Amino acid sequence: LALNSALAHERLQRVAALDPLTGVYNRRFGLSRLHEEFERAVRAGMPLGVLMMDIDHFKPVNDTYGHSVGDRLLKSVAVAVRSVLREGDILLRYGGEEFLAVLPAASSEDVAIIGERIRRSVEDLSISHGQQSIRVTMSLGGAALMGENVDKEDSLVNLADQALYRAKQTGRNKVELAN
Ligand code: GH3
Ligand code: MG
Ligand code: MG
Repeated sequence: LALNSALAHERLQRVAALDPLTGVYNRRFGLSRLHEEFERAVRAGMPLGVLMMDIDHFKPVNDTYGHSVGDRLLKSVAVAVRSVLREGDILLRYGGEEFLAVLPAASSEDVAIIGERIRRSVEDLSISHGQQSIRVTMSLGGAALMGENVDKEDSLVNLADQALYRAKQTGRNKVELAN
């Protein structure tokens, strides 16, 4: 009985942490993990990287093929992004079709490399819908904590968000880094 209830508890915890559509962490749980990793990185004097990402021109996908196809594509994108990341990395659904990756120990060079891998894996992805194959691209903004440059995890996320905005403004399907 005790084992059963321990298992049930664990399942509930997992369900409460995950976004039901994409299977990655939901925003609330993912941001609490970011907070922990931020504190840990500051304490240890280690770098910490983040990547904010947003699918390019996703609204037309919904408008053209319907919301359920959009959902399926969204889920495939999440799986593709997750598959690029390492075990200790954190991926959360930040908003509708926006994701945040938290990369412990990643320097800004690492963030650029991982961002580019993610960008390419989304570009290579397609889902089939009848005879058609549907593809999307993604824009990413990266930032890394380097000791003294950021005081709170919110500022790190803001830097990544600004870089993402720049990626959108300058052509999409690219990775921009905070400077
Ligand atoms: P861009 O980011 O390149 O500027 O263009 P966009 O068309 O992707 O614009 P934006 O990021 O503002 O739009 C987000 C769209 O994503 C709006 C909505 O139609 C779609 N979306 C958000 N959440 C979901 C979801 O859970 N399922 C589906 N199918 N669509 C979603
Ligand atoms: Mg978008
Ligand atoms: Mg968006």
